[in-house]
Amino acid sequence: MGPLLSVLDVRKHYEVRRTLFSVTKETIRAVDGVSFHLGVGETLGVVGESGSGKSTLARCVLLLERPDSGEIVFDNVSLLTAGGEEVKRLRRRMQIIFQDPYSSLNPRMKVREIIAEPVRFHGMAKGRADVEARVGEILRSVGLDEDFLRKYPHEMSGGQRQRVAIGRALATEPALVIADEPVSSLDVSIQAQIVNLFLDIRERSEISMVFVSHDLNIVRFLSDRILVLYKGKVVEIGARDEVFLNPFHPYTRMLIRASQGDFALREEATNGALPLGCPYYDKCEDRKRKCAGEAPELTGDEDHKVACFHAF
Ligand code: ADP
Ligand code: MG
Repeated sequence: MGPLLSVLDVRKHYEVRRTLFSVTKETIRAVDGVSFHLGVGETLGVVGESGSGKSTLARCVLLLERPDSGEIVFDNVSLLTAGGEEVKRLRRRMQIIFQDPYSSLNPRMKVREIIAEPVRFHGMAKGRADVEARVGEILRSVGLDEDFLRKYPHEMSGGQRQRVAIGRALATEPALVIADEPVSSLDVSIQAQIVNLFLDIRERSEISMVFVSHDLNIVRFLSDRILVLYKGKVVEIGARDEVFLNPFHPYTRMLIRASQGDFALREEATNGALPLGCPYYDKCEDRKRKCAGEAPELTGDEDHKVACFHAF
């Protein structure tokens, strides 16, 4: 069996004016030639600091945004050339969970309706009683009891709202869930509960996940494999323990140190015009002259790849 998802050399650039009055436009290489595969039942953690292109990549994979180039193959179908009917069928099989459940849930709908909507839309249950039963089952599977059926989003805590958002995503029985910083807006004490819910979900189904986070500690907990993104490029990808215990890329090493609390990470990566060379050149402690003029390719075996001239 091939992979559930293949992302092949996907690129998404934005043309933006630096200021309101700028004449010239600047190219932001939000996603710059990203490739990876995801197997059935596998969880891929995508890490990188703010601005590295994680959300853009997630949106491209789910066709919420059209990549400039590249290919995305899901369930053996090439998404960028698939017809409307096929896309609708595949949409049911891939769902997203956003960072902020408050803005992703309709404030005028009760939990019952929020979850029933995708159940009905995708024909997951027929007739009132069946839909009702399915909604109850989904709610229980995310750790909420029936009292929540009648609640509106504003009547719940952040963690409860995120449980509802997760339930809504699972309602269509997706093969793939992409979670984009799903615990970043929650209190630290609640984060662990939601991470545990994701672990539960993984254990009771064959679901594949892409778990996006700037927090390495969370990604480490959940992922089978890790992809490290920097300025829109994959700088390292591999089996979780390979990447964590034997990181090759200087940026990955820095991220791991930062996650251990050595120092705080700068808030935003400057994702502007890139030099010809390695995207990490400016910050790299190990840079050599070669790195300034030439960008390293991602090389290695299936278990561990890195884009760095002097990583080995
Ligand atoms: P992350 O999720 O890792 O924080 P994003 O994918 O949100 O990163 O953003 C990557 C880069 O692309 C950033 O520099 C961001 O400002 C830019 N970007 C994202 N979306 C747009 C857009 N719609 N228009 C212009 N620039 C964008
Ligand atoms: Mg983001």
